[in-house]
Amino acid sequence: MTAPGAPRIGVLALQGDVREHLTALAAAGAAAGPVRRPGELAGVEGLVIPGGESTTMSKLAKLFGMMEPLRARVADGMPVYGTCAGLILLADKILDPRSGQETIGGIDMIVRRNAFGRQNESFEASVALSGVRGGPVQGVFIRAPWVESTGAEVEILAEHEGHVVAVRQGRALATSFHPELTGDHRVHALFADMVRAAR
Ligand code: GLN
Repeated sequence: MTAPGAPRIGVLALQGDVREHLTALAAAGAAAGPVRRPGELAGVEGLVIPGGESTTMSKLAKLFGMMEPLRARVADGMPVYGTCAGLILLADKILDPRSGQETIGGIDMIVRRNAFGRQNESFEASVALSGVRGGPVQGVFIRAPWVESTGAEVEILAEHEGHVVAVRQGRALATSFHPELTGDHRVHALFADMVRAAR
């Protein structure tokens, strides 16, 4: 049961770790549901773009007729939060995109895919995340991207070993890591607050 007035937040459910985000959002007090179709997108106040494989997600978004509706909602100021592959999809530009890989965009940044490299395909690190109270969050990095450069409007929220791993531009939030896998719902609560504030 979600409380009346709970923010209605969708999770883009084309591919990736959708279930984990739905669970984390519900724990953070949101009314969460999967979004696959333009009609479902129209019914949410905010959207999470999960981790997974950004090339696959972008292909499926085109196939399902979701790319333009997603771009339109983000351009219109819908709050959006991308983790890992989701961060890649929110980048205005990708370094070395696979041929034909398109993004939704929304954050004025250039992102390097798989930046933390093969040797470190997966690791965890404590990350001090600006805007989240109560100490650092546990960052789970899985073939994670980093943010190579940002435009003037982009606020840097966290770095790991000198690389930018969390950013915010207006109502768009993105992390290289996966808070949905940790059981700590503070980042999802922050996003739920962003959705409430956008009302
Ligand atoms: N490397 C993946 C990509 O390029 C992202 C990995 C992830 O989301 N865990 O999409």
